[in-house]
Amino acid sequence: MAHRITLIPGDGIGPEVTGAAVRILDAAGVKIEWEAFAVGSEAYAKYHEYIPKELIESIERTGVALKGPVTTPIGGGFSSINVALRKRFDLYANFRPIRNLPSLPTRYPAVDLAIVRENTEGQYSGIEHEVVPGVVESLKIITEKASTRIARFAFEYARRVHAIHKANIMKMSDGLFLRCCRDVAKDYPEITYGEHIIDNTCMQLVMNPYQYDVLVMENLYGDIISDLCAAFVGGLGLVPGANIGADCAIFEAVHGSAPDIAGKDLANPTAVLQSAILMLRRLGEGEAADRIHAALEKTYKEKKHLTRDVGGTAHTSEFTDAVIANMAPVAAATQKQPAIV
Ligand code: ATP
Repeated sequence: MAHRITLIPGDGIGPEVTGAAVRILDAAGVKIEWEAFAVGSEAYAKYHEYIPKELIESIERTGVALKGPVTTPIGGGFSSINVALRKRFDLYANFRPIRNLPSLPTRYPAVDLAIVRENTEGQYSGIEHEVVPGVVESLKIITEKASTRIARFAFEYARRVHAIHKANIMKMSDGLFLRCCRDVAKDYPEITYGEHIIDNTCMQLVMNPYQYDVLVMENLYGDIISDLCAAFVGGLGLVPGANIGADCAIFEAVHGSAPDIAGKDLANPTAVLQSAILMLRRLGEGEAADRIHAALEKTYKEKKHLTRDVGGTAHTSEFTDAVIANMAPVAAATQKQPAIV
């Protein structure tokens, strides 16, 4: 039976990279009926809604979406669609595995860590107001409920967990986050637990990323640390992500809409493809996920059809063609990857 999956192509490079992933999943023989929807400015022009209710109903029905990036206006305009969707479906855990593709040389080989980012509150609560002219207050919301469940998610996944914080300065908010992590840690005595302050974490990561396994942190810290860690494995074009809630999940790359290269057939679709691989594992399509991953690795190993961001000269479409050409027939799949979401 075909899987029904909601597709949000997004804007900027979104339609190009999600289009590539859809082509590759199709070539892998995964039966999918996509329900595609525009969001943001494009949806507003059509439906007078930034997030059409048809899209919400589709995700409620399918429980799973593959999403491209959506541009958020800076310093004004409508609120982030990305954040709104995470909140609407209570996708409390943003899981971002940082792993090298073995055949792509980078400054740090064989990195294998994961960022577990709280996805619903912190500085992303969007509660800001002007107290008096010239003074603005922005609220950072930290709750025991959200902190405890994100800590539990991290401990369920990890062998070693570090909670990342700034509780020396934000003693109440980050202090609460840390207390929740410590309480959850007591339920997992077999897992090594540590705590690092966010600024020190940046230095520690660059000095020695191998000291970490899973890093759990509040929303904004997770956003910043994700981009830093993306650089270890070849940049934003590579790192996937999953937004996970109790009832549904939205899979999307860490990167944004990259307006500088949008519409030029230059974007690297690897990050969204790796997000789609996470999605396939969740859907029980492990064999197809393994085959696509093997084809991706082969394409990187050959080095002939890589995009510019990783040192090649190929266009998005040429890279996509190469991954499809490198896909083994169904019976030949051998490589097994662990299920991670
Ligand atoms: P956001 O704040 O929306 O997450 P960002 O500020 O992190 O976005 P991006 O849009 O992700 O910015 O782009 C940052 C840089 O990385 C840009 O120079 C862009 O061209 C590059 N980049 C991002 N994604 C890709 C990709 N898939 N392929 C190639 N280059 C990319």
